[in-house]
Amino acid sequence: MPKSAHSPALSSEPAGPLARRGLMFILSSPSGGGKTTISRMLLEQDPDVCISVSVTTRAPRPGEVDGTHYHFVSQAEFDRMVENEELLEWARVFDHCYGTPKAQVKAGLKNGQDYLFDIDWQGTQQLYQKLERDVVRVFLLPPSIEELRRRLTGRGTDSAEIIAGRMERARSEISHWDGYDYVVVNDDMQTCYKKVTEILEAERMRRARQTGLIGFVRELMQPEG
Ligand code: 5GP
Repeated sequence: MPKSAHSPALSSEPAGPLARRGLMFILSSPSGGGKTTISRMLLEQDPDVCISVSVTTRAPRPGEVDGTHYHFVSQAEFDRMVENEELLEWARVFDHCYGTPKAQVKAGLKNGQDYLFDIDWQGTQQLYQKLERDVVRVFLLPPSIEELRRRLTGRGTDSAEIIAGRMERARSEISHWDGYDYVVVNDDMQTCYKKVTEILEAERMRRARQTGLIGFVRELMQPEG
């Protein structure tokens, strides 16, 4: 049970002031936009947020752990999950399939658990179509084209062709920025992180999410004596 869930969030029973429905916090950016670092900071510093672990058909990279970074599955297993409607959304990104398992997220939201999603624009669109009221979409932009190129150049060991490919992919991802609710320019990691956490805090306080407050507000409105 997450720390913020003082009681079943959808009940109209009197509840602690923090009881609320969880939210789906989607953080997207082109690579070089800072998504990985901001996501890591959020998961380390906010105990009420956990990551939604996706399934993917791609092979693990060195250091990636099955069940932590992704659930690594075969194409046949992925197809079976799609067929059985076990995924909330899925997309083919580059040469592999990626998807969000449904069961855990749906149950968690009811209990006030917030989920962080590191998914692409296609998955973002699908989640928004299915679960609009639970979704908060944040897009991070690099501060300039020069800075983006610097971040994508890495240690200077990659060929001009590889870097040009990365830049092209980044431009293509940036073209989907209009499918997001919030856009944050990431020119300084700490400032960007602060802005992202402010968005999260404000979204948590939306009245429609604070379903557990119904009983509490009724109590507050009772005439005295
Ligand atoms: P990578 O293979 O580098 O871990 O991820 C490649 C891309 O797939 C990233 O843009 C990432 O956001 C996206 N991705 C990861 N998991 C999912 C998912 O469950 N659904 C969708 N639609 N995209 C995902």
